[in-house]
Amino acid sequence: MGLFIVLLGAPGVGKGTQADLISRELHLPHVSSGELFREAIKSKTPLGVEAQGYLGRGELVPDSLTIAMVRERLQRPDCANGVVLDGFPRTIEQAKQLDGILAESGAAVNLVPYIKAETATLLKRLGGRWTCRNCQTVYHVLYNPPREPGKCDACGGELYQRADDTPETHRRRIEVYLDQTAPLIEFYRQRRLLVEIDGEQDIQTVYGQLLAAVQRVAREQRIGAQRCIGCGE
Ligand SMILES: [Zn+2]
Repeated sequence: MGLFIVLLGAPGVGKGTQADLISRELHLPHVSSGELFREAIKSKTPLGVEAQGYLGRGELVPDSLTIAMVRERLQRPDCANGVVLDGFPRTIEQAKQLDGILAESGAAVNLVPYIKAETATLLKRLGGRWTCRNCQTVYHVLYNPPREPGKCDACGGELYQRADDTPETHRRRIEVYLDQTAPLIEFYRQRRLLVEIDGEQDIQTVYGQLLAAVQRVAREQRIGAQRCIGCGE
C-alpha cells in the first residue's frame, strides 16, 4: 500500500511547484526526471557515469537507461510508502515499465493528476523567466519577481534570460510535450487513474484540487487510518 502519483502537465503549467507542495504535504519524495539524472551524475553511480557519456556527446539518454535509473531510485527505502513522479513516464512504453517496477514490490500507480492549461497561458508563463547567473535560482516577472529587478534575492547575482528562452522554442517544447503525452493521457484515462485539474487557476487553487484528489484516493485505500494525509498527524 502507498501513494504512487504520476503528475502530468506541459512545460509552464507549474507542475514542478505542485509536485513540491504535494510531496511535502504527504511526506513522500518528489522524484523528477531531471533531478534523477543530475543526482546520478553527481554521485557518479554506474548508471550516472553511463548517462553522462551520452549527454557529453550531445546524445539522447536511451530509454533503457532512464528506466534503470528510475528503478534504482524507486527501490530506495524512502519510496516504500509512495512517491510523486514528475517528468516520468513520458511514453506508454515507459508507463508499462513503471508498472513492472512497482509490481516488483506489490505496488501500482494510484493516481495521475493532469494539470491542463491553454497554450497561450503556458507561453505567457514560460516567457517571463529570469535565471541567476550565479546560483541558478529562477524568477518570473509576473509570478515570482525578484525584490530588485535584475538581481537575485538569494545571492545578489545578476539575472539573465537564457538564449533558448524564446517564444519559438517554448511553443516547440509545449507541442512536443502534448504530442508525446497525448497517448499516455489516454492510457491512464482508460485505467481510471486520470484526474484533470484546471491549470488556468492560481497556484493555491490548483493545489487545493490536487490535494483533494489525493485525499480521495488515500481514503479509498484506507491508509488514512495510519496517518492523516491532510495534516500529517
Ligand atoms: Zn543567485
